[in-house]
Amino acid sequence: LSVSDLVDASYKRIHEVDGTINAFIHLNEEGARSQAKKMDDHLGKNDITSVLFGLPAGIKDNISTKGLRTTCASKILDRFEPLYNATVMNKLETEQSINIGKVNMDEFAMGSSNENSAYGVVRNPWDPDRVPGGSSGGSAATVAAGEVMFSLGTDTGGSIREPAAFCGCVGLKPTYGRVSRFGLVAFASSLDQIGPLTRTVEDNAHVLQAISGHDPMDSTSAGVDVPTFVDALTGDLRGKKIAVPQEYFNEGVDIEVRNSVREALAVLEKQGATWEEVSLPHTKYAIATYYLLASSEASANLSRFDGIRYGERVEDERLIETYMKTRSKYFGNEVKRRVMLGTFALSSGYYDALYKKAQKVRTLIKQDFDEIFLKYDAVVGPTTPTTAFKIGDKIDDPLTMYMTDILTVPVSLAGLPAISVPCGFSEGMPVGLQVIGNHFDEKTVYQVAHAFE
Ligand code: GLN
Repeated sequence: LSVSDLVDASYKRIHEVDGTINAFIHLNEEGARSQAKKMDDHLGKNDITSVLFGLPAGIKDNISTKGLRTTCASKILDRFEPLYNATVMNKLETEQSINIGKVNMDEFAMGSSNENSAYGVVRNPWDPDRVPGGSSGGSAATVAAGEVMFSLGTDTGGSIREPAAFCGCVGLKPTYGRVSRFGLVAFASSLDQIGPLTRTVEDNAHVLQAISGHDPMDSTSAGVDVPTFVDALTGDLRGKKIAVPQEYFNEGVDIEVRNSVREALAVLEKQGATWEEVSLPHTKYAIATYYLLASSEASANLSRFDGIRYGERVEDERLIETYMKTRSKYFGNEVKRRVMLGTFALSSGYYDALYKKAQKVRTLIKQDFDEIFLKYDAVVGPTTPTTAFKIGDKIDDPLTMYMTDILTVPVSLAGLPAISVPCGFSEGMPVGLQVIGNHFDEKTVYQVAHAFE
């Protein structure tokens, strides 16, 4: 099997199914094929040192790819070609995986259903009438549809884990600081992390290995050691103590989802772990806290899209009009909603009552987890309150859409690593189980998640 064969298979599958799924915004077909050919020419001459050698990958379209359009699924960046690669792209280049194309997402990663893309909704490969989740909907759908071997997504409040749950694949949000954000178009800088979506936990560990590590180009990337993650996949959980938060099983969570996850807990016992019910009492404040903080950061980060420095422009003689007309024309509704919300929360007179208060609640949410990790090795619960919902069901009701993130945003606010793995089905749709670990303890996250495969 040559690298060109793999790349052929990938594009063949895309041409078969992506007309319906719409996981890709644009393909890198020429680039990928010529890279594959070069690698084939060298096959046999060079040793293959990387486990990712020649593997087709989909890259979320908010990750900068040098000379390759990076739209963030927004019309404002429709023709934007970055001048440099994100650090994760340089790392994947070193590992010699193949960038098959840039995958669809919610505009600027704002959303939970991929319905906020300027390039059309992505359809769930399990049922095309349902959403794939968001904002990394393209990243999850492309893996679930068998178009690529792995993908990169980004997670600010659940955007890797929720789509992984809805599409029945494995998605990990690393600890904040584990993976460099250099070259990732910022949404909420204190929360954003890039992470892998794959079909198995083992694949996931290999991709995380490739993209992790300190980067001098990102001052928030951590100078901590990167362990060998696959070493954790032992199949033995003896001595591990698991916490199961009661707040993740309340009436807001679909009964079938609760049952699937509860049944899956037996697997932990079989591998020798014990589990106990615990409380994370500040969970109920997480949605309000997250949407206030994430929107505040977004309003500042997105100020760079002014029609002057990046992307599209509506010309006007007056500068302020150029700003306003450009942003009014090219930003979608959800982006505008967040910018307004964030600007309001940061404005003088409201800053203390809203932004500062939310920062304090963020600390309380983090402390809930800190206390749990004094006694337990990992936290387990559902990833989402429901399975994938129907396209159109929630898009006109932002608050209901925001509630979808109730089980993923607490983890984001605390900066912890968490994975979603498939643990069963409800009415034919995959159910996701979430494993949350302590800071920089992705190994335990993988070890526990591996039990469910
Ligand atoms: N659904 C959340 C939001 O819309 C999370 C998005 C994300 O993680 N990028 O903000």
